[in-house]
Amino acid sequence: MLLHELTASKVRERITKREVTAQEVVEELLEWINLKEPLIKTYLCLDEDGALSKAKEIDEKLSNGNKVGLLAGVPIAIKDNMCTAGVKTTCASKILENFIPPYDAFVVKRIKDEDAIIIGKTNLDEFAMGSSTENSAFQITRNPWDIDCIPGGSSGGSAAAVSADMAFMALGSDTGGSVRQPASFCGDVGLKPTYGRVSRYGLIAFASSLDQIGPITKDVLDTALLLQVISGHDNFDSTCAALDVPNYISDIDRLDDVLKIGVPREFFGEGLNTEIKSALMDALKIYEANGAKLVDLSLPHCEYAVATYYIIATAEASSNLARYDGVRYGHRSRLSSDSNIVDMYSQTRAEGFGNEVKRRILLGNYALSTGYYEAYYLKASKVRNLIKNDFEDAFKKVDCIICPTCPTPAFKIGERVTEPLEMYLSDIYTIPANLAGIPGISIPCGFTSAGLPIGMQILGKYFDERKLLKMAKLFENETDFHLKRPKLNQQV
Ligand code: GLN
Repeated sequence: MLLHELTASKVRERITKREVTAQEVVEELLEWINLKEPLIKTYLCLDEDGALSKAKEIDEKLSNGNKVGLLAGVPIAIKDNMCTAGVKTTCASKILENFIPPYDAFVVKRIKDEDAIIIGKTNLDEFAMGSSTENSAFQITRNPWDIDCIPGGSSGGSAAAVSADMAFMALGSDTGGSVRQPASFCGDVGLKPTYGRVSRYGLIAFASSLDQIGPITKDVLDTALLLQVISGHDNFDSTCAALDVPNYISDIDRLDDVLKIGVPREFFGEGLNTEIKSALMDALKIYEANGAKLVDLSLPHCEYAVATYYIIATAEASSNLARYDGVRYGHRSRLSSDSNIVDMYSQTRAEGFGNEVKRRILLGNYALSTGYYEAYYLKASKVRNLIKNDFEDAFKKVDCIICPTCPTPAFKIGERVTEPLEMYLSDIYTIPANLAGIPGISIPCGFTSAGLPIGMQILGKYFDERKLLKMAKLFENETDFHLKRPKLNQQV
């Protein structure tokens, strides 16, 4: 196996056993990236010098016999909406095209403290608004399994980088499915933690009551490892829970109790691709064969989840994005230099934001405006509570819920760009977890006849990530879907 093909845990093991140096790993990876990047376009920026100098630092620590961190020498890709001190952070938006943050996001600091190597910043839909990464202001990322298809979004760059072996692991953010959906389209493991499990300090805000950062990796063990590193309390994010972080890695292969798995009717009905449905049915049989009991469930209000999400997320986005005014951050319109300040604001925003971001700002401002607030925002908040209650009721009966991650496999580039509603529907199964705040993981569970990966989603109780990881690991131990790689990974 070539170095870049290893999982993060394996490459760390080889580095710490001194079978290979961190520098060799980075050099080999960069060579591979340079070969494949022109085709896939996952990165908005590569930090070659930074990565090499960090690698040398770790090799030195090891040769001096010093202790090294949980991610020693592992090259990691970061979605470009998380701040990296001294390295451009653009959110794939023209408005932040030249923004260099003076500080690291909490998660970035944590992974650096554990001796990881940040290899680059990955492409996304502008401000994480989208499901295909086609809303990036800079480039279109392709799906390594079929380069005519999108990799999913909005963390499409991170998901494609992991599946093309162009990063050992990656961070994404998930507001309505942006970690799980691209992970499922690219054959990766992706986890959205419970709201409050991971600090969002330094994550450029999209919708603050929904945003969470999560790992995208090649297998479940690596997701456990990265979650371990990024979880925990942070005084700089008041929504971050002051709860102890359990050990996600120990006992990951042990599931003691007979589990009850909820199978929600509403997620297996109309609109679900038949190949995905049958892959899920086969997966459920594997759990049954391992002693799990399947329980038929109803989550009646999830039918309103997409509509609810597009009120709440756009309302919060319109407020969060008000800060981009040409004064404090990023782009300022040149056309406006001798006109008044209001012209400067509007010209700057007209030039800096792309169409989808503008659409969301308009929708959000409308939903919050006088006279409409009660009819839209308030109503959506009430429906959100009903969705939360659906899950709370369900978790009185079952330990976790299994459903598809997405209703279809990856679609073709360009296919949905003119159909925003169709694009929004690709998140129909992922959005409910964000609205309820519960954790969810997507793992590979099969392939379509066209060879595209299929993702299975496991949803759990608040802060029960440990169980999700164990459930996911059990499935991985019984199957080999996670070991399959895109054909493109073999072509040199
Ligand atoms: N696709 C959804 C949206 O466009 C979710 C995005 C996300 O999770 N960041 O809002």
